[in-house]
Amino acid sequence: MEARAILVPSNGLLVGLLGLLLTGPGRLVYNLIPMLVLGIESSCDETAAAVIEAGRIIRSNVVASQVKTHAPFGGVVPELASREHLDRIDSVVNSALEAAGVGLDDIDGISATRGPGLVGSLLVGLSYAKSLAYAKRKPIVGINHIEGHIYSTVFENEPIIYPALALVVSGGHTSLFLIPEEGKYGTIGRTRDDAAGEAFDKVAKLLGLGYPGGPVIDKLAESGDPAAAQLVFTVPKMNSNYLDFSFSGLKTAVLRYVRENQISPVPSGAEPDHVIVDLAAAFQEKVILSLLWRLRQAARRHSPKTIILAGGVACNSGLRRAVRSEKLGAPVYCPSPILTTDNAAMIAAAGHRRLALGENDGFEISAAASLKLDNIVLDGYELPKTARYKL
Ligand code: ADP
Ligand code: MG
Repeated sequence: MEARAILVPSNGLLVGLLGLLLTGPGRLVYNLIPMLVLGIESSCDETAAAVIEAGRIIRSNVVASQVKTHAPFGGVVPELASREHLDRIDSVVNSALEAAGVGLDDIDGISATRGPGLVGSLLVGLSYAKSLAYAKRKPIVGINHIEGHIYSTVFENEPIIYPALALVVSGGHTSLFLIPEEGKYGTIGRTRDDAAGEAFDKVAKLLGLGYPGGPVIDKLAESGDPAAAQLVFTVPKMNSNYLDFSFSGLKTAVLRYVRENQISPVPSGAEPDHVIVDLAAAFQEKVILSLLWRLRQAARRHSPKTIILAGGVACNSGLRRAVRSEKLGAPVYCPSPILTTDNAAMIAAAGHRRLALGENDGFEISAAASLKLDNIVLDGYELPKTARYKL
């Protein structure tokens, strides 16, 4: 056992606290540090704020969804999203503080999403966070949204043991990361075209099932027969070591199936018939098989000690069942559904680690729409120069 002193900012003062390195190399039990962190998330179409304690206790978690605003368009309209964030950020942050029973003065640090996402949306949350940090003289850290999704698993599971493998599947991202130690991320697979959630949303739109498509398809798939709808498509050849994904061929196969079988989209408010239900089940099955195949390969190659399944699509009941029943050689951590889609508790959890280590990004920090999470290059997975960045 090794011990090290960590400076923790508290009420404007730097207070020395003890962090312990326990149970294995490089694993910092910083959650013993009782900091209160305010998290702010606004990368896409959810305005969210949360207060978390000691890195893994949720004191409050407020999410204002814009689903109703964007539903008529079948997807997120960036201009509308940033305007709505502006309207709601103040009340969402105040509600989170109130629900946690604390004031801004009690907060030890602020953690806000800085990317990736829609730049207009990101700027609202980040600028708001910076102004709070400035006014109250609090440290602030800018968090990668995808890292936030990975940290969504810390609340309800045992501590993550490294090396870990993370499959992040959301509306904007589908990536596999190897995490040899906390805070170090190497990409070992990513989508070449659509993200998995995007494919769910596009297929749902095509079938007249509404937005967002994932939850609707998930529900229909429970009663559908995937074998009843034969989807014909080929996965593009992946001639590299990467365990890359591709979903656009599958989406086109659904479109072709719809045309060939003269299937009409479900009229608004009507119940989908069995043809649509079976098609939804067939589509979902193919997405799950594709995700599972690469996850299995990655687990075999890298023998992780923990497997993390995160991001909005990790809500999918078929995917959760399939991943849990697969022998992957390590425990699988999934967040509960409320923490799976975008929220600020996960952003606060990721920020807690850096704040507890005494980090402060200061007021120069800016939004970065295409921020990458990779900060290491793994052997056999050399990245093009443009994809590298340092956290
Ligand atoms: P992002 O971080 O990219 O904005 P989120 O993490 O909020 O995305 O996830 C939203 C995505 O998750 C949407 O594409 C939605 O369709 C998908 N999703 C949500 N619930 C389910 C589900 N039960 N099954 C499949 N996909 C789902
Ligand atoms: Mg997300």
